[in-house]
Amino acid sequence: MTQNIVFSEKALELRAKAREIADKYVRPAAAKHDKAQEYNHEAAKAVAEAGLFRTFVPEEYGGYGAGVLALSCVAEELAKADSGFGVAFAVNALGSFPIILGGTEEQKKEWLPKIAAGEKFVAFCLSEKFAGSDASGLSVSATLEGDEYVIRGEKKWTTNGGVADYYSVFCVTDSTSKSRRISAIMVEKGTPGFTVKKVEDKMGIRCVPVVETHFDGVRVPKSNLIGGRAGVGFKHAMMTLDYARPGVAAQAVGASQGALDLANVYANRRKQFGVPISNHQMVQYMLANMAMKTEASRQLVYAAAAAIDEVGPSPANSKRAAMAKCFATDVAMEVATDAVQVFGGYGFMEDYPIAKFFRDAKILSIYEGTNQIQRMVIARHLIREAGELEHLQEFIPTEVQESYEPDSVPQA
Ligand SMILES: Cc1cc2nc3c(=O)[nH]c(=O)nc-3n(C[C@H](O)[C@H](O)[C@H](O)COP(=O)(O)OP(=O)(O)OC[C@H]3O[C@@H](n4cnc5c(N)ncnc54)[C@H](O)[C@@H]3O)c2cc1C
Repeated sequence: MTQNIVFSEKALELRAKAREIADKYVRPAAAKHDKAQEYNHEAAKAVAEAGLFRTFVPEEYGGYGAGVLALSCVAEELAKADSGFGVAFAVNALGSFPIILGGTEEQKKEWLPKIAAGEKFVAFCLSEKFAGSDASGLSVSATLEGDEYVIRGEKKWTTNGGVADYYSVFCVTDSTSKSRRISAIMVEKGTPGFTVKKVEDKMGIRCVPVVETHFDGVRVPKSNLIGGRAGVGFKHAMMTLDYARPGVAAQAVGASQGALDLANVYANRRKQFGVPISNHQMVQYMLANMAMKTEASRQLVYAAAAAIDEVGPSPANSKRAAMAKCFATDVAMEVATDAVQVFGGYGFMEDYPIAKFFRDAKILSIYEGTNQIQRMVIARHLIREAGELEHLQEFIPTEVQESYEPDSVPQA
């Protein structure tokens, strides 16, 4: 089903503000922060002052309630200037969605206004050393002792770790249960026993810290259990990823557009064989492919985001979000690769931003669910949808129909 994409006034206003901040604070400082692996606090302050953290927070809790489409527009603009800063922004939405989608009224009132104001930054702690794609196998535990949960274990790859004030931590609260094993608990920076142990040295998105977070008997009040009910954490994690994936996909669109723009400008200035290389058909071929794929990604991402804003969580939207994430992030890598090619030898040098676009692009197809996992999600939904196509049965060879065993079809 196709989706109408309608931009609210607010979404357009937020996009314009994001573009301004990207031009003023993000792009000019991108190389410096990448090299030093330093967070761009100045740009984050500008983002907070412009109200961009209010984009994804509902109005009742101090936000603009502008939705996933507006969030995607902002993430795209920031990532166009610096993919790493795009993530540094969007991860706040990722960490907030468990509260927005599953938190109690008191929790929303307590945490969301500070996030909306940009006073508190957020991180999302799902992955562990031995639980990546199979996040359900996580082992950090939270044991109820009186009125407190005591958290023990280590999380891996926490983006924004150290910078963030709030951490949505997915823990095992009932190791005997299969379906209600996991809960999400909010841990605040500075809680005794909570530490950042290893700041990763990364290939790309180097301006945003990705760390190990350690929980050595961290005690938090029982009221920090997100949703106030144990055992629903995995469901909230999956819903969160469905909501956040258009944002990652939008980062990819921004990264593609940023690389394409640079390649386009370069191709008009660099002369070989007496003419700008943009005269050569094989360079035009690359530029045209980059532009087509970027625009196709953009439309897919906006459609997925608009559908989530209109309908909320649904199997169709889960498939749309996975398709947008997978397609747009694969495209970002392809476009960055071609952009380096257009730049020739200069493209391989760290003196110019195009090499950074290439390094930054790779992570997009790995985090928030690898693109293999996205394809699994898409295929499972497709296989289930085949049940709705019974009217096509008559076009299937009789012998194939006769050998059909419904139980042997993969379960969605
Ligand atoms: C820079 C960075 C930032 C991150 N930020 C966060 C964060 O903020 N919060 C957080 O919780 N996590 C974060 N992650 C973790 C990220 O989501 C995981 O790295 C990702 O989900 C993959 O898990 P893994 O690295 O353990 O790889 P694995 O799961 O071990 O996968 C290795 C390979 O096997 C493939 N594979 C695995 N299972 C299957 C299967 N069933 N079928 C086909 N192929 C399969 C994968 O696609 C991949 O190619 C981050 C990771 C990185 C590198």
